Amino acid sequence: MRKSSAEMVENMNMQEYIEEAEQALLHTYNRYQIVLERGEGVYLYDLEGIKYLDFVSGIGVFALGYHNKEYSEALKTQIDRLIHTSNYYYNIPAINAAKKLKAASGMDRVFFTNSGAEAVEGAIKAARKYAFLKDGSTDHEIIAMNHSFHGRTFGALSVTGTEKYRGPFEPMIGNIRFADLNDMESVRKQVTDKTCAIIMETVQGEGGVIPAEETFLKEVKALCQERDILLILDEIQCGMGRTGYFYAWQRYGVKPDIMTTAKALGGGVPVGAFLMTEKVAERSLGAGDHGTTYGGNPLACAAVEKMLELFETQSVLEHVRETAPYLEKCLDQLKDRYDCILERRGLGLMQGLVFDRPVGEIIDRALEEGLLLINAGQNVIRFLPSLVISKANIDEMADILDSCLEQVCTQGDPDGQA
Ligand SMILES: *Cc1c(COP(=O)(O)O)cnc(C)c1O
Repeated sequence: MRKSSAEMVENMNMQEYIEEAEQALLHTYNRYQIVLERGEGVYLYDLEGIKYLDFVSGIGVFALGYHNKEYSEALKTQIDRLIHTSNYYYNIPAINAAKKLKAASGMDRVFFTNSGAEAVEGAIKAARKYAFLKDGSTDHEIIAMNHSFHGRTFGALSVTGTEKYRGPFEPMIGNIRFADLNDMESVRKQVTDKTCAIIMETVQGEGGVIPAEETFLKEVKALCQERDILLILDEIQCGMGRTGYFYAWQRYGVKPDIMTTAKALGGGVPVGAFLMTEKVAERSLGAGDHGTTYGGNPLACAAVEKMLELFETQSVLEHVRETAPYLEKCLDQLKDRYDCILERRGLGLMQGLVFDRPVGEIIDRALEEGLLLINAGQNVIRFLPSLVISKANIDEMADILDSCLEQVCTQGDPDGQA
């Protein structure tokens, strides 16, 4: 008797799924060889039922853990009510989400997008339009940072400071100049009469988990104010509570003119946003200047609204501030134990361990031992756990990583431990 295709799919094992994926999907990722099926809290399960402690959280997206019942219920309710309407009409979740996002960020105006890259695109357009309205010219320049990452669409890619991501796709959008993060002189060197914006991540993510220093941020902000240059802070990865502040810049009080957010914003539903001050909003994008079919639809915005509500009711920022020092301590202990770890850096629950070698082998071993980690560049392991991670979860991670490092790295002098 022939099996129905549904039955055949049910009986496929993990390897067969992986083979099918490699036949059907464009090969733009070298994926780890597991098929993930479900999640619970800070754990993921693959098709064979193997459990993984997740320190990736979908690249910092599932901030409140998997299978959060309140979040899931809110989405289900909205699915039954209204999923999409287009931006020609108002919808209540978008209004509520925008109000909450304004309150959390201190910014004045919100434009919802479907992804981080689209938020960056909008930010760049707003900055160019602002400059255009001042002098009517169209040759304005933007300063971006080396090693930055802002996304894969053309505008976002043009301000991404990694040559290998841009190279094959040239020409980029024009008039982008690159400076070095935390090097004010390098920024000053790139400023001209045409500079309309400076864009950077408050904490570089993909580039290796590198926080912008407080003095640098303040000097950039002062320069921007002096010359009416717009400061664009990309908070797509470091925002939404990850550093213990709702947005990382709030730690320093260096408020951007335009800000981008995404990743954890919708807790898994694809949604991003760019926000701006009233000053920029009044003199940049107007009716007809920008749009999106899906952006800010009721389903995505119900997710945003619920995430922002849960951040409050579950005291997420307080929890991050309490657990982050513990994560730092555990990572520092590993650094003291193994010579192959050169440095720990990061802010809050966005941490990186810098190694003296490529970290691929360590990440592979961790996966075999039930721990999901990702890199940030070749030599850095990046830690982006769910924001509701417990100290016990951190201990579990540190134990597994310790056993992986024991196999890969030589230990330092045991008596020399701090
Ligand atoms: C992930 C990321 C982006 C791009 O977001 P997508 O949703 O993947 O388009 C942009 N900027 C930063 C800092 C990011 O981490």
